[in-house]
Order: sequence, then C-alpha cells, then structure tokens
Amino acid sequence: MHVESGTVWNDCLEVIREDIGEKSFETWFKPIKPVRYENNILTIQVPSQWFYEWLEEHYIGVLKKAIHEKLGPEAKLQYSVIVDRGNASNSPMSVKLPHSEARNNAIDEMDNYVSPFKIPEIGIDQRDSQLNPNYIFENFVEGDCNRLARSAGFAVAQKPGITSFNPLMFYGGVGLGKTHLVQAIGNEVKKKFKNKFVLYVSSEKFTSQFIGALKNNKIQEFQNYYMQVDVLLIDDVQFLAKKEKTQEIFFHIFNHLHQMGKQIILTSDSPPKDLKGLEERLLSRFKWGLTADLQLPDYETRVAIIMSKMENDGLSIPDEVTEYLAYSVETNIRELEGVLISLIAHASLNRVDIDLELAKQTLKNIISDIDTEVDIDYIQKTVAEYFDVNARALKDKIRKKEIVMARQVAMYLAKMFTRHSLKAIGMHFGGRDHSTVIHSIQAVEDMMDTNSGFKASIKELKEKIKIKAT
Ligand code: ADP
Ligand code: MG
Repeated sequence: MHVESGTVWNDCLEVIREDIGEKSFETWFKPIKPVRYENNILTIQVPSQWFYEWLEEHYIGVLKKAIHEKLGPEAKLQYSVIVDRGNASNSPMSVKLPHSEARNNAIDEMDNYVSPFKIPEIGIDQRDSQLNPNYIFENFVEGDCNRLARSAGFAVAQKPGITSFNPLMFYGGVGLGKTHLVQAIGNEVKKKFKNKFVLYVSSEKFTSQFIGALKNNKIQEFQNYYMQVDVLLIDDVQFLAKKEKTQEIFFHIFNHLHQMGKQIILTSDSPPKDLKGLEERLLSRFKWGLTADLQLPDYETRVAIIMSKMENDGLSIPDEVTEYLAYSVETNIRELEGVLISLIAHASLNRVDIDLELAKQTLKNIISDIDTEVDIDYIQKTVAEYFDVNARALKDKIRKKEIVMARQVAMYLAKMFTRHSLKAIGMHFGGRDHSTVIHSIQAVEDMMDTNSGFKASIKELKEKIKIKAT
C-alpha cells in the first residue's frame, strides 16, 4: 500500500506537538518538509545543516518517539539537508539517522559530540574567552576618530545579539584600536552576563584550528565548538583571504550564530568592499549589520591617550612633553605607546625626570630605528646653520627676509624628509597653520625654477639631511 509522506509526517507532527511547546514547534518543525516515505524510511527535508544538528541535539528523543508511535519500531528517519539554497545544480545532501535499536548508543555518542569544549588536537581548550583583561572600555579613549565605533560597540555589549548591529564590523589601519575595542566588548559582556560564552579569536588562529581539525578528523567538533558561542569576536578577517575552505566553514558558523541570535563582531584592515580574496557571500553578510571605521586620532585625542596611559601607570609628565609627543607621533596609537614606554624606561633606568630633552632624544632613537627618519628639529638646525641664521628664529614671528627664506626651506625639507602632516609641520614652526606650510613649499619650488644658485643650495641641504637619514 502506498502511503503518502505528507500524511505520515502529519501524524508524527501531532505527537510532537503534544510533547513540545508551541514556540519550539513553530521554529523547529514548521520549516520541515516531508520528502518521501519508502521501505520504512521517512525522509524529511530541513533548511540547513545547522537545523539538522539542532534537531538532533535537542529533539532526537521527541522525533524517535513520534516515529515509533506512528510508523512502528522498525521505521527509520532520514534527513535531506539543503546545502545551498541558492544553487539549483547542487543536489541536497542526505544524512541518515542511526537505527532505532542503536538509539541509546547514538544518543550517548551524540552527547560526546555536541559538547566537546576541550579538543586538544586542534588547540581548543575549554570555555576560555581568550580575552586580555586590560582591554576595557574604561581605558579606551574616545575621540572623533572612533566615536561611532566605540558607541556601537558599547551598545552591543549591553545587548549582545539583540541590536541591529549584527554583525558589527570595525575596520581601520594598524594600531588604531580595533583589537582593543572588540576585546573591550568581550570583557564588558562577560562582566554583565556571567553565563554568556564569549570567544575572542584571531582569524589566523581560527584558520590554524580549522586545519588541525581537518587533519585530525575533528571538523564536527570544531564546528560544534564555535556554534556554542554567544558572542564571537573574530579579529583581522582580512587574513581569511584566499583560504576558501576556512571561509566556507566560517560562513556556516556565521549563519548558524546569526540565525540563533548570537552576536558576531569582526575586525578588518579595510571596509568589506575593499576586502580582496573573500567570497562575495561572506562580504555581503558582513554588511548586514553595522560597519564602523577607526581613523587616525587627531591631536587632541592623542594628547588624551598619552595622559590616560600615564595616569594608568601612575606617572606624570610635563605638558610640553605630552604636546611634543602628540605632535610628533601621528602615525598610530601603537607607535605612540611604544614611544611612551621607551621614554618611561629611559627615565627610570637613568634615574632622570621625563623632560622635553629626553623626549626628543628618545623619539629620535626610536624613529631612526623605525624608518631612519630625521626629525624637524634637526632639519631646522641644519638649515639655520647653512644660511647662518638663528634656529630659534625659524619658530618665531620674525619677518626678516633671510629668516623667512630659511623658514620656508626648512618647511619644504620637513615635508620631504618626514612623515609629518602639513598641520604638524606648521606646529613645529611656532604654531603656523597648514596653509602657511603649503605656501612655503610652493615658494621654494618656484624659486628653484628661477634661481639656479638657490636650487644648488637646496640640493646641498638635501645631501646633508640625507646623510643623517640613512
Ligand atoms: P589594531 O588592532 O587596530 O591594530 P590595537 O587595538 O592593537 O590596534 O591598538 C594598539 C594599541 O593602542 C593598544 O595598546 C591599544 O590599547 C591602544 N589604543 C588604541 N586605541 C586606543 C584608544 N582609543 N584609547 C586608548 N588606547 C588605545
Ligand atoms: Mg589588532
């Protein structure tokens, strides 16, 4: 006798509905479609791999009971999982559920495989969040450069998974605070919600864990581990570029977590549209929530960051040193911190106070270490000597013709030999604004075009400065 799968399934649903709540029924059983009933095997179609796993994890007992009751003890259940909905050429994947006799064993096995928090083979250990407790909101200085990112991050930390900022993605260059900010969110969530499983992972670590899982046949464990996370912080996703298999599993984990209302926070060195080597379907998901950038901090924010770091260390430095550092180090916050650390080290090793002279000396050493750059002071000194004027006059308001000329040349060379912005260069010349610097550079270039003697002088000066720079 031919029995329609729809009828059979409806019978089962009646039993299931009595066993579980209405909401669970709606969520987990409404989306199921019966496919066929043949040779005592009922095949049902579920929307995704995760759906299938969720059913097995939470409803295997209910399902078994209904099937036995309505179809007899010999009946078996088989799933047809839609692997990729958007692709008609992709035939659905089928996954068989174990025999009814093996049910208890199967459940035991399943218990083993749904909650493995310790998978040493692939470097996964316990419910450890991998967070650095020093990265918190309290010491993350707010400025125009990070206001949106910070406040979105803070909002998400108060209500993980509930705001529309899911995923939340931060992007920006190195040393601008991406890692600090995502970790601050993680620490904040843990403080507020003791039971939430927060996990911080770099994309490199995620990749190497995944490769380990592949080698050790532990993909399922790997996947399950990540699917239990309530708040997933994944740092530097640009490193997933061109790693197709890793992207694929991340895509599935992402979908599962998102579907379950779990929070995902990502960082990257560039906005999604510029991320090369990442699959389009991943990039499009990154754009579902909110994308916020971290920019270079402006001068005021740099001052605030220096003050905050010194305060944290219980140290104080003269204002002029803070200002000098904030003017001089404008590449990123990590570099600013590096300068501060070595300044503190010098002062304590040599038992001297931190003053402007020490700051300049330290900065000179560090910067020539980093990229053999000369500083503006050196350029001013060299130019003043060359034209036989007083170096300090370059920073003053003096309008004597030869001083104006030397000042313009020094600005021109500062632009050429340092990474400072026009604004910062202007500040080094007695607080002049950036339009003055532009004007000076223009004036020098014009004069070189028309005056070959002057041009030769500039060439000579460049040689002098270049010797110092290399
Ligand atoms: P990224 O991950 O973007 O490369 P990090 O988060 O590692 O940058 O930040 C580099 C350093 O600068 C860290 O030590 C961090 O604490 C510090 N930092 C970055 N932004 C801020 C900020 N707004 N306030 C205080 N410290 C900051
Ligand atoms: Mg980082």
